[in-house]
Amino acid sequence: MAQHFHNGAVYVGLSVYSDEVYVDDHGTVCDSKAFTSSDQQQEIDLEGRMLLPAFRDTHSHPLFAGREAQGLEITHIHTIAELGSALKTHRDSNSALTWLDAAVYDRSMAGSQTRQTLDEYVSDIPVVLHADDHHTLWINTKALEVAGLLHNELPALSAGRIDVDEQGIPTGILREWPAMSLVMDLAPANTLQEDLQALLWAEQQLIEAGIVECQDAWIDRGMAEVYIEADNNGLLKLDYSLAFRADVDTFNDDFSYFLSLTEKIKSSSHLKAQAIKFFVDGVFGSATASVSETYLSSNSFGELNWNAEALIASISLAHINNFQVHIHAIGDTGVSFALDCIEKADPRPKGLNPVIAHAELTTDTLLEQAKALEVNLCMQPYWAQRNGMLLSCRDHLGDNRLNSLYAIKDMLAADLNVSFSSDWPVSTPSVLAGITVAVFRQGAVTMPKHNPDQAITFEKAIDAYTSSACKLLGSRNPGTLVIGQPFDAVAIDKNLKEEDLDGYLTAKVLATYKAGKNLLV
Ligand SMILES: [Zn+2]
Repeated sequence: MAQHFHNGAVYVGLSVYSDEVYVDDHGTVCDSKAFTSSDQQQEIDLEGRMLLPAFRDTHSHPLFAGREAQGLEITHIHTIAELGSALKTHRDSNSALTWLDAAVYDRSMAGSQTRQTLDEYVSDIPVVLHADDHHTLWINTKALEVAGLLHNELPALSAGRIDVDEQGIPTGILREWPAMSLVMDLAPANTLQEDLQALLWAEQQLIEAGIVECQDAWIDRGMAEVYIEADNNGLLKLDYSLAFRADVDTFNDDFSYFLSLTEKIKSSSHLKAQAIKFFVDGVFGSATASVSETYLSSNSFGELNWNAEALIASISLAHINNFQVHIHAIGDTGVSFALDCIEKADPRPKGLNPVIAHAELTTDTLLEQAKALEVNLCMQPYWAQRNGMLLSCRDHLGDNRLNSLYAIKDMLAADLNVSFSSDWPVSTPSVLAGITVAVFRQGAVTMPKHNPDQAITFEKAIDAYTSSACKLLGSRNPGTLVIGQPFDAVAIDKNLKEEDLDGYLTAKVLATYKAGKNLLV
């Protein structure tokens, strides 16, 4: 059926507006002539509401989010007493449970975050709590025991840390993946059926957020298989780009496996596997991101997970095999290191410029270097607000550095391709929430603004979730509502051009169209 959307604010993309858009029988944006020549025509009155190009999330973790939602949900809990009682109730009502996974805990919660605290509530099976930064675990004594971390000498780690007390005994806090994986690798694995459920649940959340394409920015062994199984059974509605995680210790061994999966995905219409994800540093909340001035809390410069020689060789290997590199770099030294390695590596495949994800602490010089190297930046606008996550970095960074984080306007002024993303489940998959913070630099009316000089316009924020995202993903689709392109669009319940912060905070997605079909019905 051909459709004519009219009487609304239609944002075509790239600062162009219209008040109507025509879609032909095949779900392609067309002119009025093609619409009138259709046998079946539908008039859709937008009643002053807004139609935008559909959103694309260039860095998210849908399968992790789905798995996390299958465990015990503790996000709403902010006291240890309530947390303990939730854990105990869950354990008591699931006698067959052999492992208790819960997410996400509030790291700013008052009280002692140690294994002994958790033991008071559940001590007979491993308890693993995931922190809101997703770079920290809080575990009980049983979990330390089964991982062999209680009575043995602690292993050397390529990055991260096992926190210990004055006697050198682990406290129950593990930081960064090399430490976290010592426990997580022992967690009972989901069956393929459970993973499929997790993925399809996540997909529904993405559709509700107005997203039609998503890059899963952390694919380990066994994860691409879930996407492939879903695709082979015709269960996927959205498009996914899979980014394989390069483990600093096993990258060369893993590489042939990445290539074999890429081959399997080659003919899929919903899946592509074209990126390799590298972590060059950690996060500010654990003082593990790599910085040029020491952390106030630890007098350290954070950590680099790779040495230059290995990273340059690995980027080159990725490039030669037609992969895009997607590099997690948060501190200014992390970003600088990533850029230097990109500069020295073999040339990238055509159309797949390297990506630096997060780039939280930058300088004008770094942005100029990124521009000269034609590097894409993948930012999480939702983080640019003075919430608990940002403020948990204050003791480490001090106010000056904290206030300079997320210089999104400067990045656009440097003419960089800046795309937006959620990093879900680190934060909400809601694109409207991300746009709100990009435009207002606050996530609630009562919250002070975070560095409001770096606020950007509504149009720039939408472009970052649409056309710039397509550019980053090397897509042929321009991510705009121009004639000849698939009608991938989002209808929202108000015209945001006329709304204040309150209007943005209460806006809702009404429909998510992919190639003319509304997936939100
Ligand atoms: Zn991520």
